[in-house]
Amino acid sequence: VKEALYTFVRPENTQAPELLGVSKAAMRDIGIEEGEEKSEEFKAAMAGNTIITIEDDGPDADIKDDAVYPWAQCYGGYQFGQWAGQLGDGRAISLFETPKAKFKEAWNERYELQLKGAGMTPYSRFADGKAVLRSSIREFIVSEYLNSLGIPTTRALSLTLAPKARVQRERLEPGAIVCRFAESWLRFGTFDLLRARGDKATLRKLADFVAVHVYGGWENLPAKLPSKEGKNIEATIDASDMTNSAKGAPKTDSAVVDGPTATDTVKAGLGDKDIQGEGKYAENRYTRLYRQIVRRNARTVAMWQTYGFMNGVLNTDNTSIYGLSIDFGPFAFLDVFDPSYTPNHDDHMLRYSYKNQPTIIWWNLVRLGEAFGELIGSGDRCDQELFVEKGVDKDWLPELVERAETIIAAVGEEYKAVFMEEYKRGMTARLGLKECKEGDFETLYSELLDCMEASELDFNQTFRKLGGFGTEYLSSEEGRKHAAVELFRQDQSASDTEVKRIATWLDKWRARLVEDWGQNGDKQRQTAMNSVNPKFVPKGWVLDEVIERVEKKNEREILNNVMQMALNPFQESWDWETEYKEEANMDAERFCGD
Ligand code: AMP
Ligand code: MG
Ligand code: MG
Repeated sequence: VKEALYTFVRPENTQAPELLGVSKAAMRDIGIEEGEEKSEEFKAAMAGNTIITIEDDGPDADIKDDAVYPWAQCYGGYQFGQWAGQLGDGRAISLFETPKAKFKEAWNERYELQLKGAGMTPYSRFADGKAVLRSSIREFIVSEYLNSLGIPTTRALSLTLAPKARVQRERLEPGAIVCRFAESWLRFGTFDLLRARGDKATLRKLADFVAVHVYGGWENLPAKLPSKEGKNIEATIDASDMTNSAKGAPKTDSAVVDGPTATDTVKAGLGDKDIQGEGKYAENRYTRLYRQIVRRNARTVAMWQTYGFMNGVLNTDNTSIYGLSIDFGPFAFLDVFDPSYTPNHDDHMLRYSYKNQPTIIWWNLVRLGEAFGELIGSGDRCDQELFVEKGVDKDWLPELVERAETIIAAVGEEYKAVFMEEYKRGMTARLGLKECKEGDFETLYSELLDCMEASELDFNQTFRKLGGFGTEYLSSEEGRKHAAVELFRQDQSASDTEVKRIATWLDKWRARLVEDWGQNGDKQRQTAMNSVNPKFVPKGWVLDEVIERVEKKNEREILNNVMQMALNPFQESWDWETEYKEEANMDAERFCGD
């Protein structure tokens, strides 16, 4: 696979496949009619047993062959901070691209469909190209769940059981295939690999491809970095916000991270002058592309923090060029609010813990910036085919890299600003407020997180429960104490000091609710809160139970039911515990990741 970024490869044949489930939302978004999932043609395609060749009347029709073959991508990556060399789709095979349903004619936005677990590829290395049922169920559900929350993510169309494929892990397990799709499956690691190869020509070509085909054209990229003096909110957020905001915000000076720190950037006195100033470092189109990638990833990780989602393996090969949540291994949602929690049992450094996610995404973005080094450092000279002529050359031109470093550091400020803007927006909505007023973030939001941490409250449940409290109820000392106790789990005992602290917080919150909604705004406010605070959260133990029942007890309906919950997580009627939960003492570790 020298010099290639993909290889044509066909899925293996799957014997006696059983379609276990589909996502109706996914079908709608791709443009598959209801009922079509029952056809033999659909089932065979989802099992990798027939290859659908799209009659390609898209924009590239003239440059493609008649048949578009399935392919696997080649990429590299930094894993746990170390360069891991060439990796690639070891068990994912892309089938075709198709326009999004709402753009059926135009092809200007599209999805790439692929099968995961359909067999070996040239990138399988020492592994088998298979996926086990338990990890496939997890990915199937969480992809669609994140999408329901409005968090950018890769999607899942179908889950197929491959009963004859006994896959050897710690034990022999049934295999499965997930059909998944995304606007792009390119990862930071794709650029890392070209950087490592010194293949400047392809790197530039790939950057052009991302701008035009993933982001929809150079004209869609953000304009120049906003001026610090201007009124632009992004530029006026102070770096000290980041360190004060305690729990969820990025810390670019963490021990495990060597990207530029907030103070570095401030110390270096980087203003917009260095980027826009008098043509010194004319911000070229590759800088704008880089900044767009930065901004999308900043928003996505802010939403993860807002909803307590942890990916668990944020290596650069698992970080999306389109800012999607991608690669669902040992992911988890926070139970009790514990910022140091990592769902990855091998993550002894807590590199991929909840509180470290924004920092790690920035670390990954700095690696991407380094891969982009010459492109973004070359100012308006980027038009002069500087790189194409040079071909393969491992050394980036030092003066261009130096400029790129300056630009990356400045973009770090934009990363933090966009992160904070989105994080504040999300938390404001979750708390049922119309706006985040001066001081709210420090005194109200942070204090709630501190209460949650001190009293081990469930992160997502707390927000949902808050939505149910009326301001009348909270206006008496008595009511507030009752409400505080309601936030605890049934098996928890709440101490007087804890109850008092939470009751005090509730009083502050109540005052802000009245300020934003008036005295009679409860109903509207509660509706608003219930539309952003999910009732259903696919916690590890919920998924464990689904897996247990599908795999061991041969149940099928439960998958449909839990997918219904994932597609409508805000619905009040879901009560997982009374409906499904059996004995709680299951071997949780057995079910994590793969
Ligand atoms: P991940 O930890 O899921 O991001 O995977 C890291 C790399 O290992 C990727 O290149 C995967 O494609 C590859 N990989 C993981 N599991 C398998 C498998 N069962 N067969 C082939 N390749 C795999
Ligand atoms: Mg991966
Ligand atoms: Mg994975």
